[in-house]
Amino acid sequence: MAYVISSDCISCGACEPDCPVNAISQGDDQYVIDASLCIDCGACEATCPVGAPKPE
Ligand code: SF4
Ligand code: SF4
Repeated sequence: MAYVISSDCISCGACEPDCPVNAISQGDDQYVIDASLCIDCGACEATCPVGAPKPE
């Protein structure tokens, strides 16, 4: 299990520093989560202004 950032992402960058395992990075079109690092804490979902990160 891991969180996934949907295409609703507006690349604001707010979630990146909130991830305790540094799983979030800026991709080509939007921010992305490395599924191999994500521990499903939900911090990114709580921070995101548009609700883009969701548990897969
Ligand atoms: Fe990082 Fe937690 Fe979001 Fe996974 S759910 S990407 S561990 S902030
Ligand atoms: Fe994208 Fe939401 Fe993260 Fe901002 S907080 S970069 S909109 S996923």
